[in-house]
Amino acid sequence: MIVTVTLNPAIDVSYRVPNFQMDQGHRVENGNKTPGGKALNVSRVLKEIGSAPLCTGFLGGQSGVWIQKQLDEQEIEHSFVTIKEETRTCLAMIDEKSGTQTELMEIGPVVKNEEIEKFKVSFQHLLKEATMVVASGSLPSGVPVSFYQEIGALTREANIPLLLDTSGEPLKFGIEGKPFLIKPNQTELSQYTGKVESTLEEMIEAAKAICSQGVQYVLLSLGAEGAVLIGEDVIWQAKVPRITAVSPVGSGDSMVAGMAYALQKKYDLDECLRWACACGLANALESTTGMVQTEIVQQYLPEIKVTAL
Ligand code: ATP
Repeated sequence: MIVTVTLNPAIDVSYRVPNFQMDQGHRVENGNKTPGGKALNVSRVLKEIGSAPLCTGFLGGQSGVWIQKQLDEQEIEHSFVTIKEETRTCLAMIDEKSGTQTELMEIGPVVKNEEIEKFKVSFQHLLKEATMVVASGSLPSGVPVSFYQEIGALTREANIPLLLDTSGEPLKFGIEGKPFLIKPNQTELSQYTGKVESTLEEMIEAAKAICSQGVQYVLLSLGAEGAVLIGEDVIWQAKVPRITAVSPVGSGDSMVAGMAYALQKKYDLDECLRWACACGLANALESTTGMVQTEIVQQYLPEIKVTAL
């Protein structure tokens, strides 16, 4: 069982506005409402491609109840810690004329110390059933910035691989927890190193330096340019076919799902990278964030060229 950790989930509401203008009121069709948060996206994709994830994290208030109901309807298992404050809502206004998107993202609830302690106990119970953990996204207020380091330590103690997808300070601490794999994109890697890695060689060097700290693999995603999987002794590069992307938002989450799925199946590393890229690409062909169609993933798998560098 793959346990996915979403510490700062959200209800994502998006409105399509024919011609969005600042300072004006707009009449709109009902918004499209989905459970949001990076590891919830990962879970949805895992479920679609044939895995049975279990989601955990913090949920609160009526928004939390709504997210759990959605997961029930999608037949995705969950075991969240209930918190006192309300789970956040994020709003996106998509301007149909220009294609631009204006977002309002609530910071979200403040998680209390006792709720964090409750999560740790519950997480350790879940680790008894888990074969892999995927932790993605930002941390809510109240949760220490070093929390992913703790998650790393707990999963290592239980001998369970952790796939971590986060950025900024939580990533810095997360790396110290020696996860099995991290998945930065180019911006996140640059933020981590404090340098602008402009060439592929520089990015690979930066990733290798991370591996020397105890992270086994860095899965560097490069959008339409594909991805590179870097370990201490291996480097695999994946080139993806050219597609007409509909919305690549959530491709990183879909990529993590593909990687987790293939690792669980014990596929060879190059095949795992192929799965990761096929899921990222399949998401870019959808308008919904964190959504793939298994047939599309299967269709593109043979078209992803993986070579050793
Ligand atoms: P997000 O934060 O929105 O989840 P990300 O920046 O973490 O995205 P990307 O690098 O954009 O992740 O995409 C992940 C993977 O998805 C890429 O490595 C690639 O394999 C695939 N992908 C993304 N966009 C495209 C595209 N336009 N064409 C083909 N494949 C794509």
